[in-house]
Amino acid sequence: MAKEENYSILTRLIYGEAHTEEWDFGHHVIPPLTSSTTYRLKSVERGSQGFSQIGNLPDTAGFDPIYVYSRMGDPVIDMLQNALATAEKGECAVTFATGMAAVHAAVGIFLKQGSEIICHQMVYGCTYSLFTTWLKNLGIKVHFADLSKPRSFIDLINENTKVIYLETPANPTLEMTDISAVTSIIKEKNETRSAEQQIYSVIDNTFSTPYTQRPLEHGIDVIVHSLTKGICGFGTDMGGAVITSNKFFEQLILHRKDFGASLSPKSAWHILVYGISTLGLRIERQQTTALRIAEFLEGHPAIESVSYPGLESYPQRELALRQLRNYRGEFSPGFMVYFTLKGATPGDSRANGAKLMNYIADNSYAITLAVSLGQLRTLIEHPGSMTHSAYSAEEQINRGLHPGGIRLAVGIEEAEDIMKDLETALQFISQ
Ligand SMILES: *Cc1c(COP(=O)(O)O)cnc(C)c1O
Repeated sequence: MAKEENYSILTRLIYGEAHTEEWDFGHHVIPPLTSSTTYRLKSVERGSQGFSQIGNLPDTAGFDPIYVYSRMGDPVIDMLQNALATAEKGECAVTFATGMAAVHAAVGIFLKQGSEIICHQMVYGCTYSLFTTWLKNLGIKVHFADLSKPRSFIDLINENTKVIYLETPANPTLEMTDISAVTSIIKEKNETRSAEQQIYSVIDNTFSTPYTQRPLEHGIDVIVHSLTKGICGFGTDMGGAVITSNKFFEQLILHRKDFGASLSPKSAWHILVYGISTLGLRIERQQTTALRIAEFLEGHPAIESVSYPGLESYPQRELALRQLRNYRGEFSPGFMVYFTLKGATPGDSRANGAKLMNYIADNSYAITLAVSLGQLRTLIEHPGSMTHSAYSAEEQINRGLHPGGIRLAVGIEEAEDIMKDLETALQFISQ
């Protein structure tokens, strides 16, 4: 190595102490926050090897990854990916810059021109517009079906079908799909299809988080998460992930490399250090509160209906009890609550909802009018005009989204405080 003192101070300020052999990850209790777009290569040969092994699976025996460029791989991102795979009981995970980038990759690795997707009728608004605008423009056909009736999609399957895409509990209605019922139909169909014509199941598990639902256990091939929500948990960072079996790892890494939606290592660090480590604590607290709020709303005279899988009145109670389980096997209905207000017509109910949410925006302390979910703060929003506005008003009604539906993402505040703010706002609109 050249001697530092032979170089000018300005040059030395660039190199400084930034490079040290003194520590490695093994010395840290908390992993270092890495922020290096490129990596020191010991030789041209090693750089070349780094490029040629992109997407290779880390084999457990003495894995020595060659980091070349942060879009292709980074040590903190690898640690987060391992944690996400553990959380979903999957073989591997690949992270992305946002949940939408993860959705794109999760379906993108299976599609080519002329491929077809069968999608649940009610999915996240941007997923809907990704499928019906951008993928459609590339010659991908999308069919919609009500997958909560598992046999409903069978007639839509043809030789071009590549992906069955589902979300359960659905955003925002919290209607559930029986995952095993869907995957067993796919498995049966795949038995008589060639290797190129296999159908893959992809699920968006953002609403549940792996703490309350682990779809791989129910036969799903690929899980998508927006890490921005319950997994990050603090509302500080965006991110996405795909969790699946090793056979799709390379394709996902290559997709990320070329479309370029890599997660920032700084965000990965927050999600790893603060988010995923506190997942169980936060969700347990949030869902205990969510149940109390759902019960409070159900008993309130201004409320028309409440959908929360933890309520006795939840229409798919048996499915909820079977599918929503924490790691200890206990029933875990989650932190999302959906409700509608009374009104002479759906339009009245919608107007009442707007009045309620505007009152909350101006007057509440423990509830905030904002999209997103899974944060420390309780957030309220109107899916019909916000998160799900990609669906036309008519499509919303056809697909079971009530024009006045209100979505509440419960945080970690004291339940009494959230109920106090709701009660005051409900009194205001009932005047
Ligand atoms: C937010 C969300 C997404 C998109 O995630 P981003 O991180 O915002 O890109 C996808 N699916 C669901 C269910 C979501 O709630």
